[in-house]
Amino acid sequence: MNTITPRPGVMDITPYVGGGAAIGGPGGVIKLASNEGALGPSPKAMDAYRSAAQSLHRYPDGGCLELRRGLAEKYGMDMERIVCGAGSDELIGLLARAYSGPGDEVLYSEHGFLMYPIAARTAGAKPVTAPEKDLTADVDALLGAVTERTSIVFLANPNNPTGTYLSRAEMKRLRGGLPQGVLLVIDAAYAEFAEVDDYGPGTAMVEAGANVVMMRTFSKIYGLGGARLGWAYCPGAVADVLNRVRNPFNVAAPAQAAGLAALADQAFTEKARRHNLTWRRWTADRLEEMGLETVPSIANFLLVRFPQGKAGDNRELSAQAADGFLKSQGLIVRRMESYGLPEFLRVTIGREDEMKAFADALSRFMEGEGQ
Ligand code: PMP
Repeated sequence: MNTITPRPGVMDITPYVGGGAAIGGPGGVIKLASNEGALGPSPKAMDAYRSAAQSLHRYPDGGCLELRRGLAEKYGMDMERIVCGAGSDELIGLLARAYSGPGDEVLYSEHGFLMYPIAARTAGAKPVTAPEKDLTADVDALLGAVTERTSIVFLANPNNPTGTYLSRAEMKRLRGGLPQGVLLVIDAAYAEFAEVDDYGPGTAMVEAGANVVMMRTFSKIYGLGGARLGWAYCPGAVADVLNRVRNPFNVAAPAQAAGLAALADQAFTEKARRHNLTWRRWTADRLEEMGLETVPSIANFLLVRFPQGKAGDNRELSAQAADGFLKSQGLIVRRMESYGLPEFLRVTIGREDEMKAFADALSRFMEGEGQ
């Protein structure tokens, strides 16, 4: 009897597991597990989303014309080279399928975003990782892992889940060392939070050549993760390819409207950026006072390292134990086993009250309450 089987590689995919949203039991939860914008969406974006409900019987603009025009104006880009997607996740998949396939290797760094291997395997290609140094992508290791089969390098900058980044100079060195025929995809999902001088999202690198794509999202600083909206700035030929392989109406009309309104609300974006900076610093300081180390982050989350051993009174202080305690207190953060970082938890920077509740709960855990 014939059996129905997917193409090779598909059953090797470990399904992506998003951050938890519920704990069970009564009471509210504080969700700091998915790097969603702390302040939610701009009220103007919500208004635009609601207004779009009037015409839900109409298909969306398949070309995202107004949104691409808005992005092009804001960033001084050529709108013909912008392609929008249902989240940057969709664009990661489209790029993988268009530019890699069986026999190809898709390269990413050791603790890179888990959608890259999923997209590679879906395309039939082989995901390959390069080791990191100090939880940061290592240009030499990436270049050393390139073979004649490498078709795409995906690099999140800043990276999720580490929050670390490569400077403009390092990114240029990476591009310079890659063969011309390898596509470098810079995933700048957290670019808007970055406040360091030597960081750039990659716009200039896209413009400098024919083999760099920069991806952005509305899911983070704009707080529109639920609307599913991302975009890519590409060489003209890559935009042409993406426009061939994407679904004709891949971005919902309310998402387009909300994205455009969010872009225009600069005061809100600025407030979100300042909020993140303030509360990321505050959280890192509080954790340090508790004896917990955090990885320096330029994004809207912190990776927190927990001791492997036990406390003096024989209590387990591991990331797993901390996660269990936080859950018991109604707090959801992200476990990091799937990223090969079992001694860490990742916490998203949320609202002031949420960060205070998180720090207070963790401090109770470190002091031994409830164990
Ligand atoms: N890239 C990175 C590095 C991310 O962390 C995320 C969100 N987890 C995405 C892409 C996907 O974002 P989107 O909501 O736009 O699909």
